Amino acid sequence: MRFVALLSVVFALSAQDTSISAQRIAEHTKFLASDLLEGRGVGQRGGQIATEYIATQLALAGAKPAGDNGTYYQRVPLVGVETAEGATLSAAVWSKGVDLKWADEFVGVSPLERPDVRFEGEAVFVGHGITAPEFKWDDFKGVDVTNKVVVLFTNEPPSTDPKFFDGRALTYYGRWTYKYEEALRRGARAAIIIHTTPTASYGWDVVRNSWGRETPFVKLAPNEKALSFQGWITKEAGDKLLGLANHTVDELLAAADKPDFKPINLGIQIRAHIPSKIRELETRNVAAIIPGSDPKLKDEAIIYSAHWDHLGVGTPVNGDAIYNGAIDNATGCGILLELARVWGSLPQKPKRSALFLAVTAEEGGLRGSEYYGTHPLIPPAKTAIALNFDALYPWGKAKDVVLTGAERTTALPMAQQIATRLGLTISPDAAPEAGHYFRSDHFSFAHAGIPAFSIEHATEFAGKPAGWGKQMYDEYNAKHYHQPSDEFQSDWDFTALQQAAEFGFLLGMDVANQAKLVDWRPGDQFHR
Ligand SMILES: [Zn+2]
Repeated sequence: MRFVALLSVVFALSAQDTSISAQRIAEHTKFLASDLLEGRGVGQRGGQIATEYIATQLALAGAKPAGDNGTYYQRVPLVGVETAEGATLSAAVWSKGVDLKWADEFVGVSPLERPDVRFEGEAVFVGHGITAPEFKWDDFKGVDVTNKVVVLFTNEPPSTDPKFFDGRALTYYGRWTYKYEEALRRGARAAIIIHTTPTASYGWDVVRNSWGRETPFVKLAPNEKALSFQGWITKEAGDKLLGLANHTVDELLAAADKPDFKPINLGIQIRAHIPSKIRELETRNVAAIIPGSDPKLKDEAIIYSAHWDHLGVGTPVNGDAIYNGAIDNATGCGILLELARVWGSLPQKPKRSALFLAVTAEEGGLRGSEYYGTHPLIPPAKTAIALNFDALYPWGKAKDVVLTGAERTTALPMAQQIATRLGLTISPDAAPEAGHYFRSDHFSFAHAGIPAFSIEHATEFAGKPAGWGKQMYDEYNAKHYHQPSDEFQSDWDFTALQQAAEFGFLLGMDVANQAKLVDWRPGDQFHR
């Protein structure tokens, strides 16, 4: 009798241990979002403590160190660059010229990571700055822009045809990050985007706010090339600048949308002086691995990721200077840790290994995951999938899950089966034209060739009317997103996070056990 009773206790315990707990996710979230963690700023004490906590929890889960030199940490060297007072940008032809005013007319940063940068160069207008062979589109048409200052628009040629720039959805070619990368690949000295609200999909104030502060860059390797300047000018400043060459913004935007567009040598000389405040930032990704059970396949892995950083201590709002980042992204870290715990407690491990990765500096532009992408701990060709968690909403029981980008991969049918099993529907990206796929850490993995997407927050909740989730989301976005008030609330209901974790767990298990690696859909931009 005693033996039976003991056995049932053991079974009860193990049943509990291998099921994902909303409560545990909530407890991690509460700790990571507490004021003691000081907003988990990169290069700040609270951020260091957060990484210690995450590494400790991963160790307790039985995951092995997967970072540098047998540790749980992958060092990520960053350089913070903030354009200092006195930055100038001017344009001239013959005797005429315009001087643009910092913040009101131009913003930007010098990725050279040097305190004092001066440059000049001829301005060439390159349309949208896109070379996309799969859409038979080339804005450069073989024109050499080495040492030139390219002037361009963000976004891509408008389309409703799914075969041309994915129709209404934004492709990576439309993102401003791509523009600067392509300009650098082509040897340009600097790249200046002319802002318009329709092409950017947000107003000048958003550009000014996000570019008027410190930007972290991955530290350049010796002799690594970088643009002297990457920035934006207002539409009005664009008209002043283009006016020197008798062009207007509207006219050139119309020209840029045509397939026969060719670069226009504007005959304008651009000159700039960009002083910067430079600071080295010591930060790290946390990496831990639970080895697979198959002697061959354990060399391959799936990745679970979440960014641990938030905005740290900053400008006070209503007397509160701690940007706790409870939803963004203590929630994702809570899920990551709970997944590791359950994976670690499986009596029989899946065939492939599972890498648990808490990345740094997402808020500064996906820098921790970018660094991982260029310094992978498991080769991308041996990485079956990367599943990311970023900002999930503890507002009750979910009816759906959003998987932006799953349709780019061969994992979609499997994801659909699992969703059905869990009684969840897969909801489409509500705003594909906003390019959310390129704004979270999974994108860095995709950029490195790893099939990747995020398991995102629910949009519909059980027992709530249709549209309630959207209303809550809009309210969160308006009042708490990136504000000190993104704080843990004791009345939050973490059921939706448990569901997202269960979904990720089952999908990860299936991918870790299936015969083949997940692949990109044929022809996808990130196909490896
Ligand atoms: Zn954020």
